[in-house]
Amino acid sequence: MQKNDIMELTIEDMGMDGTGIGRYEGMTFFVKDAMIGDRVLAKVTKQKKSYGYARLIDILEASPHRVEPRCIYARPCGGCQLQQMDYESQLAWKQRKVRDSLIRLGGLDEERINRVMEPIVGMEYPFAYRNKAQFPVGQNTAGEIVAGFYAGRTHTIIPNLDCSLGVPVNGEVLRAILGYMKDCGVSAYNEKTRRGLMRHILIRYGFDSQEVMVCMAVNGDRLPREAELTGRLCKISGMKSISLNTNQADTNVILGSRTRVIWGDSAIIDALYLRDTTDFQRVGEKTVYRISPQSFYQVNPIQTEKLYSLALDYAGLTGRETVWDLYCGIGTISLFLARGAKWVYGVEVVPQAVEDARRNAVLNEIGNVTFLEGRAEEVLMAEDTFGVSGMARPDVIVVDPPRKGCDSKCLKVMLAMQPERIVYISCDPATLARDLAALCEGGYEVKRVRAVDQFGQTTHVETVVLIQRKDT
Ligand code: SAH
Repeated sequence: MQKNDIMELTIEDMGMDGTGIGRYEGMTFFVKDAMIGDRVLAKVTKQKKSYGYARLIDILEASPHRVEPRCIYARPCGGCQLQQMDYESQLAWKQRKVRDSLIRLGGLDEERINRVMEPIVGMEYPFAYRNKAQFPVGQNTAGEIVAGFYAGRTHTIIPNLDCSLGVPVNGEVLRAILGYMKDCGVSAYNEKTRRGLMRHILIRYGFDSQEVMVCMAVNGDRLPREAELTGRLCKISGMKSISLNTNQADTNVILGSRTRVIWGDSAIIDALYLRDTTDFQRVGEKTVYRISPQSFYQVNPIQTEKLYSLALDYAGLTGRETVWDLYCGIGTISLFLARGAKWVYGVEVVPQAVEDARRNAVLNEIGNVTFLEGRAEEVLMAEDTFGVSGMARPDVIVVDPPRKGCDSKCLKVMLAMQPERIVYISCDPATLARDLAALCEGGYEVKRVRAVDQFGQTTHVETVVLIQRKDT
């Protein structure tokens, strides 16, 4: 096959990013927007030795898993990759993706993984689940100010104020800010010229508290007529915190390091409940969290309760354990763990998050937890972390790193600490597989694995894994 050739093929699988995969005359082709079960017509765009890329031209026979996307922007928008697939099939695909990563990328024993892997925990309603949204602001070709989402792999904004994964208040906030910008002549930031003011609008909504936070990333220290802006925003029900974040750097990172509150509090409060891990009904008391604009907080609170409850279950606490919670953020998991452990040490690199974590311990009257600021790998290695020489030996280590996984130094120290159990929470099956391979090499074995769908309509999936020291 050559570039621009047209072929007919059946899509048999989907890659990690949701791209359809089919074979034509023994050659593998990646076809974007095509789904498992589709029979398609596609045009070759790139041809390599053993594989190629092709553009979807027509769906000759639609996959039985196809559904009408709820959002009219589903195909061009970079946010959702799987909206055209029924939710059951999305879950089945994610379950396979986690399993295949552990076996193929991690080289973990297939028979063991099949035995220990539990069924994926799906959502009851896979829309309107996000408590956080970050909208880029720009100008369209007609010169109008728009906000929305980036199209896949580009920085072209698709105007959309009512994303179907978000909460209705997002639209209210965006309309108020865009109205203010228009009325007060406030410009949108332009990435090419690096001029203009408004870059991004971050909105957070506490599902339990119903509190709303708005943080605007601005190419400067202030906005014109801030009182006019806050006057409009504070009328929105639940509004609790309005802030400006200064970001003048030429970067894709949304927030800069300086944030100034222009109305209300510097954070919102939300709460999470422990759930029973057989029927996932809420049980027990709630844990309350203070969340600053710069702090990480899981975006899907309902599924997070299930995920953390599973993590707590996997940790197998009796009240006597010393637990380390690495990459602890605002202490979300640490505080869940502290209720069942002797002592919990949380380690986190973002100072605002550590401050939130310490305040959260007080807020929940939890005394058996210490939060340490720094990189997990460095804090673990610091000989005098506890004012003693050598390392404190934890019974259980919980890790919840960002997508890139754990630093190799961090894995080494974890192994040197010889905890009985490690609970690994991951948002990327590929780096999870890599890190588990290293930990298993170091004397641990996989006991339980469960995927939790935190991100319906997208290719992302969260996984919780229990590994245990072989000699225990
Ligand atoms: N466990 C928390 C946060 C998980 S997200 C929760 O569930 O809410 C990952 C966290 O790791 C983020 O808060 C991020 O700031 C932090 N982080 C990233 N790199 C780190 C490192 N090297 N050491 C410690 N924390 C790190």
